[in-house]
Amino acid sequence: MVDFENSARQAGSSGAKRAVVVGAGIAGLAAALRMYRAGWDVVVLERSPARRSSGYLLNLHGPGYDAAERLGLLPALAPRDIGFFTSVLVHADGREKFTIPATVAQAAVGERALSLFRGDLESALYDAVAGHADIRFGTTVQTLTQETGSVEVTLSDGTHLRADLLIGADGVHSRIRDLVFGPEADFLVDLNHMVGAFPLETVPTHVPEGVGTTFLGPRRTAAVMNLGPGRSSAFFTYRSPDTAAEPAHNADAALTSAFGDLGGGIADALHQLAADPAAAYFDSVGQIVMDRWSRGRVVLLGDAAWCVTVFAGYGAALALDGADRLGAAVAAHGDDLSAALDAWEQSLRPEVRKRQALARRGISRFAPPTRVHVWLGDLMLRAIQLPGIRGLVQRSIQRANN
Ligand SMILES: Cc1cc2nc3c(=O)[nH]c(=O)nc-3n(C[C@H](O)[C@H](O)[C@H](O)COP(=O)(O)OP(=O)(O)OC[C@H]3O[C@@H](n4cnc5c(N)ncnc54)[C@H](O)[C@@H]3O)c2cc1C
Repeated sequence: MVDFENSARQAGSSGAKRAVVVGAGIAGLAAALRMYRAGWDVVVLERSPARRSSGYLLNLHGPGYDAAERLGLLPALAPRDIGFFTSVLVHADGREKFTIPATVAQAAVGERALSLFRGDLESALYDAVAGHADIRFGTTVQTLTQETGSVEVTLSDGTHLRADLLIGADGVHSRIRDLVFGPEADFLVDLNHMVGAFPLETVPTHVPEGVGTTFLGPRRTAAVMNLGPGRSSAFFTYRSPDTAAEPAHNADAALTSAFGDLGGGIADALHQLAADPAAAYFDSVGQIVMDRWSRGRVVLLGDAAWCVTVFAGYGAALALDGADRLGAAVAAHGDDLSAALDAWEQSLRPEVRKRQALARRGISRFAPPTRVHVWLGDLMLRAIQLPGIRGLVQRSIQRANN
C-alpha cells in the first residue's frame, strides 16, 4: 500500500496546498520560493547529491533583472555582481586585436544589470528558500500518475508523494517532460553547436586582471575571463554538424580537439580543464519548443519547458520570470489551477518566442560561418565604440528588453 503519511509529515500537514518541484536549479529554487510565498507547502527533489554551486558567468538585465527584484533577491545578489569588464579581442596566438572598454558595455546595457556566477545566483535562491521548503538531494522521480485533484510520484528512495501541483524544473534533458509529454526528440531543435564553460581554479596568466579575452574564429568562439582568484572562468562554443556524435562526457577531449591550436589564455584554460574535466559544463546547444507547458497538474518550467540556449543569454532570466509569474498566477486564480496555468502560459509565451528567435539569429555572432563573417563581426565590434553607433546598439538592446 502506498504510504503518504511520512511524506505528509515532512512536507507539512498544515492543510495548505502542496507543490513538488523537481530540480533545484535556478528555475526550481525560484519556483519553490515563489510557491512558498503564495502559501503552499513545497518539496524540492534534486537528483544531485549536493548543491552545484560553481559554474559560468550569467548576465541578468531587462525582465530578468526585474524578476530578480520582484523575488527580493537584489540585496543578496548586488554584493556578488561582477560588474562590467574590459573585453580584448585576440588573434589565434593570443595577441591583442583590439579592446572594448567596460564603459561601452555598461552604456549599452544600462544600470539595471547584474553579472553573476551561476552558483552565486543559485546560492542566493537557496538561502532564501532553504528554511521554508523540504529540499531532498540525491532524490528523483521514478514514476508519476495523475488523478482528479492530485498528482502522485514514486521517488528513487522508494517513498511516495502526493501533490496538488508538480513543477518539472529539471533542465533541458527533463525526465518529467519525458514521463508526461513524450521523448526529448519530439521537442528538441538541435542548433548544431556544442558549448563548454568552467571556472578557473588558477588565475589565467596570459590575461590581465579585470579583462576578458575573446577569440572569434570561423565556426568557433573561446573566451577567458580573469576576474581574480575564485572568479575567473572560460567559455567555449563551436559548430558541430553531428552533436550526437560528440563525446558528451569528455569535455576535455572535445574542447582540446576544437581549440587545442590556440595560444594565450585559451591554452592555459584548456590545461586547467585537463586537470579537472568534471568541473566543466559541456553539452550540445538545443532549444525546447513545445505547444503547451502543462498537462493536468504537471507544469514544466525553465529549460525543461522552453530552453532558449546560451545563444540567447536569457535562460536564467526566463527561469526567474517564469517562476515569479507562476506564483502570481496560482495566487490570483485560487482553486482554479487550470485557469492559473493558462494565464501563466499566455503571459510568458511572447517573451520565450522572442528570445528563442533572437538566439537562432545570434548564432553567427558566436560561431561566424566564414572568415568574411569574422571580419565583418570585428568591424561591428570596433564600430560600437563610436558614439553614434553606440547609441544604435543601446536602443536595440533596450528594444529587445521591452
Ligand atoms: C555557458 C552558459 C552561459 C549562460 N549565460 C546566460 C546568461 O548570461 N543569462 C541568462 O539569463 N542565462 C544564461 N544561460 C542559461 C541559463 O544558465 C539556463 O537557462 C538556466 O540556468 C536554466 O535553469 P533551469 O533551472 O531551468 O535548469 P538547470 O540549471 O539545468 O537545472 C535543472 C536542475 O534539475 C536537476 N535535475 C535534472 N534531472 C533531474 C531529475 N530527473 N530529478 C531531479 N533533479 C533533476 C539538475 O541536477 C539541476 O539541478 C547560460 C547557459 C550556459 C550554459
